[in-house]
Amino acid sequence: MKDDVKKVLLSEEELHAKVAELGAQITKDYEGKNLLLVTVLKGAVVFLADLMRTIDQPAEIDFMVVSSYGSGVKSSGVVKIVKDLDINLEGKDILIVEDILDSGMTLDYIKGMLLDRNPASIRICALLDKPARRKVDLQADYVGFTIPDEFVIGYGLDYDEKYRNLPYIGVLKPEVYSV
Ligand code: 5GP
Ligand code: MG
Ligand code: MG
Repeated sequence: MKDDVKKVLLSEEELHAKVAELGAQITKDYEGKNLLLVTVLKGAVVFLADLMRTIDQPAEIDFMVVSSYGSGVKSSGVVKIVKDLDINLEGKDILIVEDILDSGMTLDYIKGMLLDRNPASIRICALLDKPARRKVDLQADYVGFTIPDEFVIGYGLDYDEKYRNLPYIGVLKPEVYSV
């Protein structure tokens, strides 16, 4: 699998150090709150699994699966809920845990949808941020790494559903895309 990787952008050590830093900050910020970590499957599961264990506050977790309505709607960010959250959001302090903030359209839509359910607060924690690609006015409240506009894989992120299990974040060799 590592033969398919052109370069390592973020090593396991860098990822774990940053995740611990984010977890410590979140621990401070959410003292006495009703923290609920919300993850949109599947890309952020690895990040969530590591991050949640660095947060020293009682926290709930919940998952959501969404799909784009069709080709035309992708640009609007409108999504269909395939699997909704199980937990009632009323009074919860939601932290959306995301793998990467790119155009921001999907997350902007999801954030709006969750806000309608009367949570106490809602924030975003994104491991990676590609600000160059943003199409909506959306910022993450917690960001791990700001990265250039390159397609990355690993640590949960896929290319064609593969490479999520790479323990680091890397860039694929161009020939992997062309076969
Ligand atoms: P957006 O912010 O454009 O609505 O979508 C973000 C989603 O696009 C991410 O959650 C991720 O699934 C996918 N994505 C964006 N950039 C990359 C990337 O560089 N690599 C991978 N594997 N997925 C990406
Ligand atoms: Mg995602
Ligand atoms: Mg993907």
